[in-house]
Order: sequence, then C-alpha cells, then structure tokens
Amino acid sequence: MSAYRIPGLHHVTATVNDAQEDYDFYTKLLGLRLVKKTVNFDNNRVYHFYYGNEAGEPSTIMTTFPYKGEGVREGVRGTGQVMITAFSVPMASFGYWKERLSAANVTFTETPRFGDAIIDFQDPSGLELSLVGRDDDDRGPWVKSEVPEEHAIRGFFNVTLSIAEIAPTFQFLTDVMGFTQIATEGNLTRFRAAETGPGNWIDVRNDAGAERGHNGLGTVHHVAFRIESNEEQAALRERILGIDNMRVTEFKDRKYFRSIYFRIPGGVLFEVATVAPGFPVDEGLEYLGQELKLPDWEEPKRAEIEKHLPKVIW
Ligand code: ZN
Repeated sequence: MSAYRIPGLHHVTATVNDAQEDYDFYTKLLGLRLVKKTVNFDNNRVYHFYYGNEAGEPSTIMTTFPYKGEGVREGVRGTGQVMITAFSVPMASFGYWKERLSAANVTFTETPRFGDAIIDFQDPSGLELSLVGRDDDDRGPWVKSEVPEEHAIRGFFNVTLSIAEIAPTFQFLTDVMGFTQIATEGNLTRFRAAETGPGNWIDVRNDAGAERGHNGLGTVHHVAFRIESNEEQAALRERILGIDNMRVTEFKDRKYFRSIYFRIPGGVLFEVATVAPGFPVDEGLEYLGQELKLPDWEEPKRAEIEKHLPKVIW
C-alpha cells in the first residue's frame, strides 16, 4: 500500500477565448452551474470560471480562463495535452442532446468508444468535448438550468490524453498515480483511478508522430485529480521528488483546494488537488457563483479589478 490514494478526477482547466461566449455555452447550452466566479490568481485581468454540479463537487468541475484581448495566441491542440474532455449524460438523453446541439448550430459527430455511445463536438474556443451515454452515474446534477433534470450532465466521464510516446506515461500512471490499466481499443488505452465509474477514468491516446501541442486559446491547460488529505498529497509530492528528471511545485493555496502541479513524462500538466475545503468555503451553497470572489491579496484592488474585467451578462 502506498501512503496516498488518488480516487479520480477533480477538475479540468482550459485556456479559452471570450468570457461571455464561454459562460453562455457552459451554463446555458450545457446546463452546468457556475459554482465560482473569481479571477486568475496570477492575472487579475482575467476571469476564472468554475462550472459544475449543484455543490461543485470534485469530478464535475470544468474551469476556464477567458483570455480574449490579453495577448494570448490561439493554441495548438496536440500531444502532451488533454485532447478530449467528456461528460456523462443518461443514455436515454442522447436524442435530446442531439436536438439541443443542432438547435444551437453546434456540429457534432457520433463515434462509439469502449462500447459507449458518444457525441463529439467543440466549445466556442475549439476545445474538444464529448457527451457519453451512461446509466450508472449517480452524481446529482444541477437542476436549475434550461436543461431538464432527467437530461442533465452528471459530471465528467473522463479525459483523453494525447501522448506521443506512451510507455513512460503508462508507467507513470500505474506506478506513481496508482491507476490500473483496464482496457484497450484501437489507439486508446483506458485506466481507472483508485475508484471506478464515470469521473474516475483516464484514456491515453497513442498519437505517435502527431504534432506537439502548445497552450493557448482553445486548449486544455491542465487536468487535476483529487486527493483526500494534505498528508497524502505530501506523500505523493515526496514520491515525485524522488523521480529523476521530474519536478513538482510547492503546495499552492487555491482557496477552494490545495494543489501541487507536475508535468508527467508524456508532457501533460497534472495537478493533484485536495477535496477540502471546497467551493462553499466563501459563499453559501445556495449562492455559489453569484458574486465575484477575490483572493485576500486582491481584495483591496476590487474596484479597479472589476473595472478591467470583461463585461458579461449573467
Ligand atoms: Zn487547476
């Protein structure tokens, strides 16, 4: 037994374009809840939006930095990145979702993988997203959106990493992250984290010879996995520090979780974030996402920050 355990996904963070388009797409079209409205802790001119289920639980959280107008170029989607971010919806909702996407002029394709029916499409910034039909997902959705409860997104299904040289990534996922290889189909290999089920799977796509990705608008910046305690996070950090050619950050206080970051051998930026304290730490569950929340050091500059953030109609 290792001194830590990684149950599954926590959040996915993407560099995106326009704040209004992003907000409208994830909350109105996809029906996720805006569970936190804050700024990029490293750049207070840029929003940081967190979208998720009602309580903003780990494994349901899509987060975005809308960088339009801040000099960030369009990214290159390629190896060393999360290529596809997939959400789960009830199988019986597929017809509803196809009609909903069509009505919003979002083009999609359907490609089953590992026996699941899947709808593939892109968000307004070009991120690759999927809806996967599953009837074994008991996470509670956000029920106050335009999407009726019976069709609502339950949370992440999984992420797909695009990797140029898969062997070192496989080894890292199993030896260090503690994941288990469970299935292979074509160029995809599926792993599960310490827990199983939607939100706890990771696919690795063998993209040998494909172009290397570069972060920018329309790319995933990093994927975060959850860990239950600070002690386990510290044990994982020690483990990574002992690996040749790997670096890991100090513990970062992200207000809603504590994080470490490291780039895996396949080039993807990973974060491991604590489950606590969670999004209700600075506003009641009922009011999540309504007010602009700032980290303590930015609070004295609130008026100036609010003036420079892009205007968004909520
Ligand atoms: Zn993160």
